[in-house]
Amino acid sequence: MPIRALTLDLDDTLWPVLPALERADQAVDAWLRQHHPEVARAWPIAAMRELRMQVAAERLDLAHDFTRQRQLTLQQAFAACGVDDAPVRALWEIYFAARNRVELYPDSLPALERITARWPLASLTNGNADLQRIGIHAHFAHHVCARDSGVAKPDPRIFLVAAERLGVAPEQILHVGDDPAMDIAGARDAGLRTAWINRDGRPWPDELGPPPQLDLRNLTELADWLDAHGAR
Ligand SMILES: [Mg+2]
Repeated sequence: MPIRALTLDLDDTLWPVLPALERADQAVDAWLRQHHPEVARAWPIAAMRELRMQVAAERLDLAHDFTRQRQLTLQQAFAACGVDDAPVRALWEIYFAARNRVELYPDSLPALERITARWPLASLTNGNADLQRIGIHAHFAHHVCARDSGVAKPDPRIFLVAAERLGVAPEQILHVGDDPAMDIAGARDAGLRTAWINRDGRPWPDELGPPPQLDLRNLTELADWLDAHGAR
């Protein structure tokens, strides 16, 4: 059966996310040290990360909304220092700008150009990357994120939201992503076809059930496979 559309994970599929998250934490810390040194002293980066983990653990209702989790974390950090009106909006802008200064893997853009010349593509992410800021927005026909959908990968429902937006049956969509549980098991359980971007050549974790249909090292391999087999 031919593939009629693709869904694509973003973080760690198109760019490595950790360097961007690291820079974003550092940008927030630098701003705090300048404008609210008492908050910076009370909440160095490691402590702020721990607080965020605590917020995530306490607010399971926000599991799909990393943005709100981070904003609440900032509010709580300021409140603990006796500041009730935390400058959340300014800090969020600083965080978000740094978080979106990602460096694409070298294969990402050429592969996106090849793939989107032939197939409609939807982004499908649990994160809060902003493709407009990153500058690759035009390659995507649709954008599906956990925050707007109310559910996060690996919940099959978010994949079905993407299928509906694309107007294509799940079994004719190839989902592409780096995370065995979130991307591959999630998409498989929703009835999509699966391509694992396995840049380090790890073995498939068998406890997650059947392996992906495609186990690829990078997006060039994906574009090559699609050229050879995608239309059949
Ligand atoms: Mg990912």
